[in-house]
Amino acid sequence: MFLFSSLITLLLTALQLYLDFRADIAGINSSLESIERTDLRPIAQSVWILDDIQVNLQLEGLIHRQDIVYAAVELDDGPGWHRGTAIPRRAITATFPLHYVHHGKDEPLGRLRVVASLEGVYGRLLRRVKVILLSNGIRTFLVIGFALLIFQYLVTRHLVHMAAFVKDLQVHRLQPPLQLDRPPSMVPDEFDLVVRGINHMQRRGYQTFCALREREQRLRLFFDSTEEAIFGVGPDGRCTFVNRAGLRLLGYDDQQQALGRDVISLVQPASCRGDSGRRIRDLVFAAMQEERSVLSEGEKLCRGDGRWLPITLRAYPVIEDGRCRGAVVFFADISEQQRLQREIRLLARVVHQSPLSVVISDARGKIEYVNPGFEEITGYSAAEVLGRRPYFLHNDLLDPHKYRKIRAALRRGEQWRGRLTNLTSSGTVFNLDTVISAIRGSGGAITNLVAVSHDVTREMELQDQLHHAQKLEAIGKLSASIAHEFGNPLLGVRFAVRDIKNRFPEDSGEWRMMDLAERECDRMKNMIRDLQQFNRPTSGVRTRFALHDTLDDILLFHRRFLVSRRIRLVKKYDPAQITIVAVEDQIRQVFVNLLINAGEAMDTEGGTITVQTELRGEMVAVSFRDTGAGIRPEHLEHVFEPFFTTKLEVEGTGLGLPVSYGIVTGHGGDITVHSVPGEETVFTVTLPVL
Ligand code: ADP
Ligand code: MG
Repeated sequence: MFLFSSLITLLLTALQLYLDFRADIAGINSSLESIERTDLRPIAQSVWILDDIQVNLQLEGLIHRQDIVYAAVELDDGPGWHRGTAIPRRAITATFPLHYVHHGKDEPLGRLRVVASLEGVYGRLLRRVKVILLSNGIRTFLVIGFALLIFQYLVTRHLVHMAAFVKDLQVHRLQPPLQLDRPPSMVPDEFDLVVRGINHMQRRGYQTFCALREREQRLRLFFDSTEEAIFGVGPDGRCTFVNRAGLRLLGYDDQQQALGRDVISLVQPASCRGDSGRRIRDLVFAAMQEERSVLSEGEKLCRGDGRWLPITLRAYPVIEDGRCRGAVVFFADISEQQRLQREIRLLARVVHQSPLSVVISDARGKIEYVNPGFEEITGYSAAEVLGRRPYFLHNDLLDPHKYRKIRAALRRGEQWRGRLTNLTSSGTVFNLDTVISAIRGSGGAITNLVAVSHDVTREMELQDQLHHAQKLEAIGKLSASIAHEFGNPLLGVRFAVRDIKNRFPEDSGEWRMMDLAERECDRMKNMIRDLQQFNRPTSGVRTRFALHDTLDDILLFHRRFLVSRRIRLVKKYDPAQITIVAVEDQIRQVFVNLLINAGEAMDTEGGTITVQTELRGEMVAVSFRDTGAGIRPEHLEHVFEPFFTTKLEVEGTGLGLPVSYGIVTGHGGDITVHSVPGEETVFTVTLPVL
């Protein structure tokens, strides 16, 4: 404004000066013209009469005119007059011819030369310039100052106020609106509009901030309510965001502990060794650099408290305007999952390797899984039974009543426990102690049935054997005590009978009767001896003897017996020299009993008896196999009972086998029998070897 007004002032001044200059020049010219008009004639007259004084006065009068500095009368013939001083550089020179009309005749006299100096003009112009400039300067200064004051009052202070307000504008809280210090105007001017705009902007800013904050809170809530740990990572690899699950996973209490930290130090504090932190960072950077999602299972991170956690990692690049701005990383703690997997694997192994049979079926009983234990017990392979119902196993042996009971128990949600008799694939009977339970799904409905069974066939056999042994023991004790009680009276009876017999002549009827009675007494005495032995197996002195020699002895001794029954004898001895320590005559008695029984089992048609010995670890098995009539199944469990005989009363006493049993078990051995009626019978004695 100052420059502009100065420029205008200068221009106006220049114009003014120019006009003044022109006016001054015009003044000089008109003064010269008036000299020509009014002064030329009197001067010519004075010159004509050569009036020095007059001419000088007249010239003097000329130079007193404004700007005229020199006036001279130059005569054509001689010197003239002149007044004034040096001729200035810038000047206007006018020359007028002087002539005098004398008697009607124009007499030329010379010339009047008048010089008007421009110095005066210039001086005046300069003064005027100074005045104009000074006055204009002062005026401009005052006007501008005033204008500035007004401007300051009306505009600048408001602008400054507005600027300060805008500078301190805050969107996160509602400020009092901007108000200018000026009287309210009826018609809003620009200031009012700007103030309104700023206030509006401030309100809108606050509203936008609130909306954003709300959205962020909602977003945070959303992130915080997921179980998965979520992290934001900036392009520099530093944490920009973490949700609550993330803090929990890392073992931090506060966001500030995590924000701004490098990924490595976030997932692997300096106290933890290893390079898993670097691996995780590389994966996150791979996601950002290659702009693709990265998934990795089997990573691990170290918590703030030094505990390692197995995790899965998912990293997604965050792309905005075609540029990667960072990554979102999801960590899921899979320790529980791994623990469950381990547990499941362990359970699966347990089920798989269990000797128990495990059958899992669907709710309707269709088999979905059987373990190798099942395959081994039943002889069916898994492929054969999958998809079938287990009835085929039970064949017809399981009564329908039992089935109903099982179904009812399962429906009530109870377990069923009991023994099932089944058939193997090859048709052998086996017994299972079974627990069947229903497995319920999360909805409570039965989804599967599980049958866990324990094969008790062998156990039942052993139990039978035990029962049998206990029975025999009880019977043995009873027999022995009876024998003992009978022994002494019998001795007395026998003495009495013999005494009476001797009182009769030999071969008399009475003598023969008494002799018979005496022999019966002897038979009874033998039986009693046998019975006593039955429960006293270890009586007698144990010696060491060669088994095969003893057997050969016995077989030789009974050669006649065998030949008379047309029996072929086969010996299959173990090649080893077998020595046993036992009461030899008792063991002999056992072998004799078995040989005789075998022989007696084959009547007139004859047959083969095979005597076999076989070393089985620390035991030797001696078996007597015959091709006789065999033992009927219902008799099989009674043959070791005393007095059990299928032979005629006179022939059999039914004591051979029970006595042998007592002797063998007394020596720490065992006797077993196997018989197929009509084909063969095998008695096997096992005894400890030396
Ligand atoms: P006994 O020979 O006096 O009858 P044992 O105790 O020796 O008494 O035998 C009992 C029963 O066992 C016999 O009556 C017979 O029925 C049966 N028995 C024993 N050995 C054989 C065999 N080798 N073959 C067939 N039956 C046998
Ligand atoms: Mg016998």
